[in-house]
Amino acid sequence: MRVLKFGGTSLANAKQFIHVANILEENMQKEQIAAVLSAPAMITNHLVSVIDCALNNNIASEHIKNIEIIFNSLLLDISKIQPKFDFVTLRVLLEKEFIQLKKLLHGISLLKFCPDNINASIICLGEKLSVFLMKGILVARNIQLVVIDPVNNLITYGGGYLAATVNIEESAKRIKKISISQADIILMAGFTAGNKQGELVALGRNGSDYSAAILAACLNARRCEIWTDVDGIYTCDPNQVSNAKLLHSLSYQEAMELSYFGAKILHPRTIVPIAQFHIPCLIKNVFKPNVFGTLIGPTNNNVDNNIVKGITYLKNMVMLNVSGPGMKGMIGMAARIFSAMSKAICSVVLITQSSSEYSISFCIPYTELSRACATLYEEFTLELKNGLLEPIDIIEDLAIISVIGDKMRTKLGLSGKLFQALAHANINIIATAQGSSERSISVVVNNNVANIGMKVAHQMLFSPDQLIEVFIIGSGGVGSALIEQIRRQHYWLKNKHIDLRVCGITNSRVMYIKTCGINLNNWKLLLHNTQEPFNIKKIMNYIKENHLINPVIIDCTGSIEITNYYLGFLLNGCHVITPNKKANTRSMQYYKKLREAVLQSKKKFLYDTNVGAGLPVIDNLQKLLNAGDELINFSGILSGSLSFIFGKLDEGLSLSEATFLAQKQGYTEPDPRDDLSGIDVARKLLILAREAGYELELKDIEIDPIMPSDLIKKYDFSDKRDFFKKLSVLDDYIFDKSQKSHKTGCVLRYIGSIQKGKCRVKIESVDNTHPLFKVKNGENALAFLTKYYQPIPLVLRGYGAGNNVTAAGVFADLLRILS
Ligand code: ADP
Ligand code: ASP
Ligand code: MG
Repeated sequence: MRVLKFGGTSLANAKQFIHVANILEENMQKEQIAAVLSAPAMITNHLVSVIDCALNNNIASEHIKNIEIIFNSLLLDISKIQPKFDFVTLRVLLEKEFIQLKKLLHGISLLKFCPDNINASIICLGEKLSVFLMKGILVARNIQLVVIDPVNNLITYGGGYLAATVNIEESAKRIKKISISQADIILMAGFTAGNKQGELVALGRNGSDYSAAILAACLNARRCEIWTDVDGIYTCDPNQVSNAKLLHSLSYQEAMELSYFGAKILHPRTIVPIAQFHIPCLIKNVFKPNVFGTLIGPTNNNVDNNIVKGITYLKNMVMLNVSGPGMKGMIGMAARIFSAMSKAICSVVLITQSSSEYSISFCIPYTELSRACATLYEEFTLELKNGLLEPIDIIEDLAIISVIGDKMRTKLGLSGKLFQALAHANINIIATAQGSSERSISVVVNNNVANIGMKVAHQMLFSPDQLIEVFIIGSGGVGSALIEQIRRQHYWLKNKHIDLRVCGITNSRVMYIKTCGINLNNWKLLLHNTQEPFNIKKIMNYIKENHLINPVIIDCTGSIEITNYYLGFLLNGCHVITPNKKANTRSMQYYKKLREAVLQSKKKFLYDTNVGAGLPVIDNLQKLLNAGDELINFSGILSGSLSFIFGKLDEGLSLSEATFLAQKQGYTEPDPRDDLSGIDVARKLLILAREAGYELELKDIEIDPIMPSDLIKKYDFSDKRDFFKKLSVLDDYIFDKSQKSHKTGCVLRYIGSIQKGKCRVKIESVDNTHPLFKVKNGENALAFLTKYYQPIPLVLRGYGAGNNVTAAGVFADLLRILS
C-alpha cells in the first residue's frame, strides 16, 4: 500500500486532474494505492478571502465568482477530455455546495462574526470538491474506488477547529472498519478531519501533507508520496534561489527542521506520523514522474554529501523580550513565560536567553502577538507593577533564517560562515539560536532582508563560487571592450571559482536586464532588440526587488547625470566602479558624501581608471598614503590623447591632423574639446590632489589651455560639428611654439603638476634630461616625489588611454571587489 498526495498546483486545471488520474491508474497496477487530494490551486486562498470579506461587510462576490469559475471550467473541461464523465450529476452536486457556501457567508456578514467551526467547513470546501471531481473521472473509467470521509474517520484531539491534531490510533481503528477491497483506489480529501463531536475541523494551512502522513500511518502504508510542482526538496526554495540543489535524501529530523523553519514544500506536522511509524516519504514532481525525487527516511544516507542540507526562512515574526531584575536567579520564570504562551496557543519558534539570566527573548508569528501580550501581562501583572520586570519589549517585522543539517554538529565554523555571509550583505543579526541537537542554527533578522540573507547564506554554504552581478551603464568604447573582456575570461574565472555575471547592459536609449546573467555571445543583438527604455531608477529597483547578492554598477558613461545615483546605489548595497571622472571632480561636498556612503554601506567605490586608465595609479597612491607616506610634489603627463598629440607634433604633424588621428585611434575623450581645453587633465590632477588629502575644487586648478582664450573667443569652438575645421586655425600658433622648442633641443609636453598643494596644467618645453621628454604615443607618465620615494620619485609609466586598457583597468577594479 502506498499513499499519494497531490497538492493544489498538481490540480490546477482539467488537464492536470486527468494527468493525476493517469498517475493513479498507472500506480494501482503495481499495488493498492490511496490518494489524498488538496484543493485546486488558489481555491483555499479565495475561500479564506470570502470569509474576510463577509466579516468586513465587503461583498465577496468577486471571490465567490472566481471559485465558481474555477470549478465550472474544471467540470466543463474535464467532461471534454474524459469520456463518460457524469457532468450533469456533478454539476448539481457542485451547485448545492455553492448555495450552501453563499448561505453561510450571508450569515457571517449579518453576524459580523465567523465561528471557527463554520470557518473550518468553508476553507475545507476545495478539498471536498477535488474529491468529487476525481471520483467522477475514475468512475468514468470504471475504476473501483472507495472514498474515506475524513470528518468521520480522522479523529482529532486538540488544536481547535483550524489547526487540529489527529489521534492516529483512534483514526486507524475507524478506518479499519471501512470495507475496502484490494482492488479499490482509496480517495480522501486532504486538510480535513473531524472532532469527537463529529464536527469538521481543519488541519492548518498546507495541511494536506499531514493528512497524507496520517492516512499512511492508519493504513500501515509502505510509503507516503507527496506529489508537487518541483523535483523534490532542494537546499533552498528553488523558486527563489536559482542555484538551489536537489537533495536525494533527508533524515526525518532534517525534514522536520526544514519544514518547521519555513520550507513550504512540506507541512511540519507531516513528519511526526511517518517517523513514528517508520514510513519512508518520497517527494515527487507531478510533472516529471520519472525523476526519483527526495526520500525522507530514518537516516540520511548522505548520497548528497552535504553537511548543511538546507536553508529556509520564516517571515512575519515578532520577538518579545522579557527582562528585568526579577529574572535573575528566579527559578521557574522561563516555565511561567512558556506556559503562558501555551495557554495563549502561541507557537514559540525560537528562544534565546542571555547568559546573565537577565532576559529571555522569543519569537512568535506576528498573527499571535496580541494573544501573547495579553496573556503575558496577565501572568506577570505583579512583577510589572513592582518593577521586577521591565515593560515587555516587542520587536516587529522580523524573520528567522535557519541552516539545517544532521552532520552540522561534527563541523566546526559553520555558524562563522553563516554570520560572515550575512555580514557581507550588511545584514544585522538581532538574535541567534542553535538547537541543542546542533541540527539547526537560526538567526533573527529584519523581515525585509530575509530573502537576500537566505540567498547569501546559500551562496556561501553551498557554492564554491564567489558571485559578482554586474550592470554596465553605457556600452560605448570602454563598455563594449569590458563586455568583450568579461566574455573572454568567463571560463578562466569560473575555474578560479568566480561566477561573474553581467546582469544588465544599457546604452543611452535602452537597457537589457537578466538576473541569471546575459549571454555575452550575442549581447549586441539582445540590446538592439530590447524595447525597455533606459531608466537608471528602474535598475536600482530591479536590484532590490530581485535581492541580488553582490551587485556592481559600472558607469562607463561620461555623464554627470549618472553620478547623481552613485550615493543611492551604494546605500542600497551596490558597489560602484567607474572610469567616469565626473563624480570625483564634483564639489568637495559631494566628494565627501560619496566617501561617507562607502563607509556606511561597506560597499566599494573604485575608480582606478580615473587617472592613467589601466595603470594602477590610484590604488598604489592609496596604498602608499595608507602606509604613512606623504606627497611632496607630483608632475606627469596625464592625458593619453595629449601624449599622443604632442608626440605627433614632434614628428611634424599639425595640431588638427594630430587631434584627428588621436580621435580616430580612440585616444581622445568622447568630446576632444575636453582634451584640448586642458579640463580633462585638470580633472585628473584634481583627483590625485584630493586623493593626497588636498581639499580643492576644480576651479582651484590653474589651467593654461592648449587653445589660448583669445583664439577660443574669436573662433567659437563651442560647436562640436565643425570642430576640426576650426581647429586648423590653431595649427600655426602651435607649430611656431613647437619649432621654437625644437630649436633649443626641447619638445613640448602638456604637464600637470602639484606643488605644495598648488595644481597647474600647462604646455611646457622640456629637454632630453627631463623624465617626460620621451613620453609620447599615448603613454602616460606619473612621477610622485614622496616622503618614502625621494630624491628619485616613484614613476609609473605606460599606456594611459584607449578602450582596451581602460576596460582592463575597470576589470581589475571589478576583481578587487572580491578582496
Ligand atoms: P503543493 O501545492 O503541492 O502543496 P506547495 O506550494 O505547498 O505545493 O509546495 C511546493 C513549493 O514549495 C515549491 O513550489 C517551492 O516553491 C516551495 N519550497 C520552499 N522551500 C522548498 C525547498 N527547500 N525545496 C523545494 N521546494 C520548496
Ligand atoms: N488547500 C489547503 C491550503 O492551501 C491545504 C493544502 O493544500 O495542503 O492550505
Ligand atoms: Mg503544500
